[in-house]
Amino acid sequence: MASDSDEYSIPFEDDIDYDEVEEMEEEMEDLTISDDDDFEEVDEEGNVNPINKNLYEEELEFETNSEPEPEEIKDEILTLNDVPSVIVKYISDIREIIEVPDGIIRILLQKFKWDKDPLLERFYEADDLYDFLRKQKIDPFTSSQWSGTEGECEICCETFLLTGPSCNHKACPTCWKFYISERIKEGNSEIECMASKCELLLPDEQVLEYFNDKSELDAYLGQVINSFVQFNAQMRWCPGVDCGRIVKSSSTDPHDVSCQCGTQFCFSCGNDGHSPVNCRHLKLWLKKCLDDSETANWINANTKDCPKCLVPIEKNGGCNYIRCRNPTCRHTFCWICMKDWAIHTLGHFRCNIFVSPEETAAAELARGQSRSFLQRYLFYFSRYQTHKHSLSLEKKLIEKMNKKIEEAQEYAMSWNDAQFLRDAVDSLSKSRRTMMYTYVFAFYLKRNNHAEIFETNQRDLEMATEQLSGYLEQDMDEEDPKTLKQKVQDKCRYIEHRRKVLMNHCSEGNEQEIWEFTQ
Ligand SMILES: [Zn+2]
Ligand SMILES: [Zn+2]
Ligand SMILES: [Zn+2]
Ligand SMILES: [Zn+2]
Ligand SMILES: [Zn+2]
Ligand SMILES: [Zn+2]
Repeated sequence: MASDSDEYSIPFEDDIDYDEVEEMEEEMEDLTISDDDDFEEVDEEGNVNPINKNLYEEELEFETNSEPEPEEIKDEILTLNDVPSVIVKYISDIREIIEVPDGIIRILLQKFKWDKDPLLERFYEADDLYDFLRKQKIDPFTSSQWSGTEGECEICCETFLLTGPSCNHKACPTCWKFYISERIKEGNSEIECMASKCELLLPDEQVLEYFNDKSELDAYLGQVINSFVQFNAQMRWCPGVDCGRIVKSSSTDPHDVSCQCGTQFCFSCGNDGHSPVNCRHLKLWLKKCLDDSETANWINANTKDCPKCLVPIEKNGGCNYIRCRNPTCRHTFCWICMKDWAIHTLGHFRCNIFVSPEETAAAELARGQSRSFLQRYLFYFSRYQTHKHSLSLEKKLIEKMNKKIEEAQEYAMSWNDAQFLRDAVDSLSKSRRTMMYTYVFAFYLKRNNHAEIFETNQRDLEMATEQLSGYLEQDMDEEDPKTLKQKVQDKCRYIEHRRKVLMNHCSEGNEQEIWEFTQ
């Protein structure tokens, strides 16, 4: 494996245009807010709107008082071909300290989820190398050390040269071959001794001895790579359909990752990139959206069961005279007291006489609460859905942009000049995605002063996002290209900046534990 993969190198590092990066960094530093009107509302008397003033102060605070920025997270996108060389690097780091064949180190690393420190800790704790390997249930013998003795194979009952690992469980080569091949077919990348209940793991060198053909070897290597990515906390498969790329990150913390296939996902939970919402709230939210419990709440808020046949009845108008819709029932009753309507027609009857007032009050309160919970949920859900829907329309916008860019080229506007449109669509969708998840964040957020700042940031980003969206969808054909370009680029810069402010506020809030959540 090692000799095969030494020739692999990790691309992309070479592909980075460092001049461009430097330019971008300079641009970020130069970034100032160009459009003050979007930022502060000034009333007729020239007073700055206090909420926005607050926001401005908050922002200054970030720029002057904040701690030095934490080290930036570096994500690297790898292809399947890049992985063997990454594995080799892990192995060679350990080989400098623990001198055993690579196949043993590979199994060791796998046991420690590719985390070198605890592995080495255990190694130093052990009496010696053999003690360490025995404790880790790994056979220290490689193929050359499997001693053979003539005898009857316990499995096939034929007399043969029997071999086996250090646990002294022996079998003939044909039986070993068959056994290993079966274990690979089952999808294993770690194969233990053949004897039942013996957990001793065989080094890769030993497993390789018994391969039947190349397809088996490929299957085994595939499983080795898969388990490497799966168990390594710094690696994750891209969840994009048919992508097959792998993200290697410098941080195991939850953060959004963009793959080259266009998929954006959370490094921690694998769902769509969902900053600023944390993984737990996202999970709750998605479940909530799926669950019928909301429908149940709605029914509770708007329906009552017929007192006779128990079929749920929806109240449409203000009238409290209800006739059951169940054709076999047709019971008539009062919505307020749930009693037979017939007794209401008696002149002296008062509706609430027969029901304990506390009971009614409690029932009404419960209904009222469930109604307001529902209204709250629907408030955030509809906004979440709106941005989600707009995000899905982005494909159309890209098509429109491409057409526009083609046209621009016809009129001698160079591709470089038109690139700003692509960048703008990119900014727009990034911002929409953020907006979408801010409503999930807000749904679980308890109101306090910090929440108010968050809402101001949210409103500000939302306004700018809709403005940019308007420029790209409506103003495209009206404005002259030069004005449009200026307008769009200014707005994009503004949006990027506001998005960053919002995200920083959220993540700093997490660190300082200023957020209070309802769940
Ligand atoms: Zn046999
Ligand atoms: Zn054994
Ligand atoms: Zn991908
Ligand atoms: Zn997540
Ligand atoms: Zn009924
Ligand atoms: Zn009544």
